[in-house]
Parts: sequence; structure tokens; C-alpha cells
Amino acid sequence: ATPTALLVGTGRGAQLGILIKGPEVLESTRTVDTVVLDKTGTVTTGRMTLLEVVPGEGVDTDEVLRRAGAVEAASEHPIAQAVAAAATDRVGVLPPVTAFANLEGLGVRGTVDGTEVLVGRLRLLQREGLDVAAGIEQAAADAEAAGRTAIVAGWDGRARAVLAVADAVKPTSRQAVAALRALGLTPVLLTGDNTTVARAVAAEVGITEVVAEVLPAGKVDVVKRLQAEGKVVAMVGDGVNDAAALAQADLGLAMGTGTDVAIEASDLTLVRGDLMAAVDAIRLSRRTLRIIK
Ligand code: ADP
Ligand code: MG
Repeated sequence: ATPTALLVGTGRGAQLGILIKGPEVLESTRTVDTVVLDKTGTVTTGRMTLLEVVPGEGVDTDEVLRRAGAVEAASEHPIAQAVAAAATDRVGVLPPVTAFANLEGLGVRGTVDGTEVLVGRLRLLQREGLDVAAGIEQAAADAEAAGRTAIVAGWDGRARAVLAVADAVKPTSRQAVAALRALGLTPVLLTGDNTTVARAVAAEVGITEVVAEVLPAGKVDVVKRLQAEGKVVAMVGDGVNDAAALAQADLGLAMGTGTDVAIEASDLTLVRGDLMAAVDAIRLSRRTLRIIK
């Protein structure tokens, strides 16, 4: 390829709000046929809101928010920020946390007032051997059926409450998915979130292929599997948990609003965090390569 034409492409990219790591990057976008889109923070805003707390028997909402909020306050995850903010609004200053651990893609753990508290996926609490009453399981299923992400808080051997959180699809996501299709690309939604929520978001933006409930380490395997099927894969993501998949993809695109780890692992950065920029990037590279030929 002619370096001059590629450099023109990178300059135009900057005007469109697309930062390109090197001129050679544009060459890989030409043959891409599949675009894997992370859900939270990529297709959706990632700004979560706590919509509901469903306490189990013998606990009240304030106690749940005080404990769960305290542990989540130590995490950067969008769900954690929503829980901590709602907790602060309701109960004021949260108690300190010790022995905090981030269980990536599952939840968090920390000690509050001498008690170990877990907050995260139902699966995490089950894995850790906590008792889950039928009412808690039902409340989680109800929240998910409503398209919300259900997380569970537990301590002293029991799941204690369900917290329902949700975020909104970005205004341009639907338009971007349609434009990707018009370019002949197949969009795939990839998320660690539950299948019901993933399907609801996919339907809202016009995606039919969904891979949900994937642990952070599994995202890269989804990309590898598509590549083994002969697909040339672009991946768009924002989180720490997307970094390996972004690096594995034939073309990695990071949201500029995302984490540094994701940006470092990718070939392109979409400065505005807008999926339409991914469409612009692919159009730009096709145009640039036409000039070269
Ligand atoms: P995504 O792939 O959509 O960006 P993540 O992999 O970050 O999502 O998280 C997957 C799931 O793990 C979340 O939907 C949530 O159920 C749970 N989870 C992760 N971190 C937390 C946290 N800090 N608090 C509660 N739940 C969490
Ligand atoms: Mg994400």
C-alpha cells in the first residue's frame, strides 16, 4: 500500500474523532465481516441506575444499601457506582470496607462492620455457598424478565436482597447497527450480563446474534471461535474485561470513554464513545484503500 494514501486516511480519521494507532491498521478493516459489540458502556451508556431493592425476610432496604453500598463504593464498575450512589442518597455516609476484592465479571466482596458481604451475580453467591431462598431467586428472575440486571447482596451465609439496575441504550446505537449491516457486516452482541437483558438490548438496537453470560476471560474465546469459523472480526469495547478480546480481534476499536487498558489493547480509539464512529472508521478505510488501488 502507498504510505501517503494511508496517512491521508489517518488524518481524516482524526477529523472524524477516530485515533488510529498506525497507518497499517486501516488495511485490516477492509476484510472485516463480523463486528462484535460489547454491551455495557459500548452499546449502552454504562451509566446504571438502581431501580429497585427487594429485601428478603428479616432485612430492610436501609441495611441492604448500607452494606452493599459500602462494598460497591470501592469498585469502579458502573453497577457498583449506581449502588453506591443510591446508598449514599438513602443512608448518608457509608461505613468503611476492609478486605475488598473485585471478582471480575461476577461481583465484589468486602468486610463491613466485621461481616463479609458479597454483591454480584446470583451465580457468584451460589458458588460461594450462600443459601438462596426461593423468594430471592424469584425476585431476580422477575427483574431480569423486566430487562433489568439483577444483582444479589448476601452475608452471614445467606442471600439477603435483590438489587435491580438498568442503563440506557446510547442514542446512536440503533442507527450504527443498521449502518454496519448496510456495509455488509454481521453485528454480534457480547456481554457478561444475563441472557434476558442481553436479548432485550439486542432487540432494541436491531441485533439478532447474542452471546451472553460470558465471563471476562471468555470474551477472547468468543472472538477466537468466530475467527476459527473463518470470520474476520472487529471488536468494539470499553472495559478492562474487553482488553484481551480487543487485542485478539483482527481490528480492535475502543471507546474513548472507556478504560485505558481497553484503549491500549486496541488499534483504533473512538474518541466520542459513539458507535457511529466505528461505522465511519470502516467506511474511511474502504475509501482509503480504494484510493491506493
Ligand atoms: P459487560 O460484559 O456487560 O461489560 P461485566 O463483565 O463487567 O459486564 O459484568 C458482568 C456481570 O457481573 C454484571 O452484569 C453483573 O451481574 C456482575 N457484576 C460485575 N461487577 C459487579 C459489581 N461490582 N457489582 C455487582 N455485580 C457485578
Ligand atoms: Mg463494557
